[in-house]
Amino acid sequence: MLSQVMQDAINDQINNEMFSSYSYLSMAAWCEHKQFTGCAHWMRLQSDEERVHAMRLHDFQIARDGRVLFQSIPQPEVDYESIVDVFEKALAQEQLVTQQIDGLYELAIKEKAFAALVELEWFITEQVEEEKTAREIVHKFNMVKDDPASLLDLDNALAQRAPEQADAN
Ligand code: MG
Repeated sequence: MLSQVMQDAINDQINNEMFSSYSYLSMAAWCEHKQFTGCAHWMRLQSDEERVHAMRLHDFQIARDGRVLFQSIPQPEVDYESIVDVFEKALAQEQLVTQQIDGLYELAIKEKAFAALVELEWFITEQVEEEKTAREIVHKFNMVKDDPASLLDLDNALAQRAPEQADAN
């Protein structure tokens, strides 16, 4: 059984992951509007992944006999300056989620929630990958700048992203 403070923190993180999912969906809608259909596809899959993260914590909470209490999801940002701005915001969001996960891990140590520590290790590893991927894409968009042919190539490359295998989550 998880302590109340631990249960509350997990519910907060479920909300953070749902907000992250919602933000990526907003980024996808903006990309779609600007005809960056490959980027939109990438963002939609990213949004799906964030929902899986939320459900992973949801299932853990229930498995530990805790209560899942949903909160309101804040409105995400809806307007972006440019395509590179979208991915810079995505990177910033992942850096924020890393801090949130680290905070949750620190709390789990304090609360001696050992099963939560094991569960959260998966998230810590995942955040390393999430930040790395976003950073690489930001770098590529900064390299191509406004060159239309290169932007089209990059959009096409991002269109190739495949959904993650269910057991990889
Ligand atoms: Mg996540």
